[in-house]
Amino acid sequence: MSRKKVIAANWKMYKSPDQAQSFFRDFLPLVAGHDRDEIVVCPPFVDLPVSVEQARQSNVAVGAQDLHWEKEGAYTGEISPGMLLAVGVTHVIIGHSERRQYFGETDDIVNLKLKAALEAGLAPICCVGEVLEEREAGLTEDVLRRQCLRAFHAVSGKKAGKLVVAYEPVWAIGSGKTATPKMAADAHARIRTEAAKAFGQGYADNLRILYGGSVKPENVKALMAEAEIDGALVGGASLDPKSFTSIVKY
Ligand code: PEP
Repeated sequence: MSRKKVIAANWKMYKSPDQAQSFFRDFLPLVAGHDRDEIVVCPPFVDLPVSVEQARQSNVAVGAQDLHWEKEGAYTGEISPGMLLAVGVTHVIIGHSERRQYFGETDDIVNLKLKAALEAGLAPICCVGEVLEEREAGLTEDVLRRQCLRAFHAVSGKKAGKLVVAYEPVWAIGSGKTATPKMAADAHARIRTEAAKAFGQGYADNLRILYGGSVKPENVKALMAEAEIDGALVGGASLDPKSFTSIVKY
């Protein structure tokens, strides 16, 4: 089963619009013509217009880091799927552990956002993953099962074609600790099983499941060698054009 890998950057709350522009000016020539993998960059909201403008006609797609599930309304500070589409965004990260941890995002909210993104035609990168205490207590599979079950609830398989899942063990994010390729592959297999239960085996066989958590130029190759790992979601190491290029071109 050959699935095109997705290498996605999550810039979190880093870079002004000027800095985003200069990133794309440096990065695009470095990855020009690279079509082995899909490349996605997810900057903060205010950087989206300049990022889309820079990446136009290139092999790099631009994604947001979050969205609200309603089309519009009295939701101060929020951004709707339609607003993202209007600026040319094609992808959106959903349920990142930092949103779950610091902003109270529950599995039910993740589900609402996932459905809204798919309904709008955006490609969601839906994040799941266990915290350290859960891994140490042997609960990783249970956590992944619950997060997937709730995220995929009432999602129509017909509409879920653009879905990408990212397995991000929370203890590996920004910590310098990486899951071993085997740990990641086991978790991905669990996620794929849940996707098969929700949407059917044929769907699950084509689903891209990315690994995220301290992916660096030095460890990306070993991770990508696992048949179960279909790409990477990269935080810290995606901020520098050269470092992100080394990851893209592992
Ligand atoms: C992330 O933010 O999704 C992430 C994986 O971060 P880092 O690569 O810095 O661990």
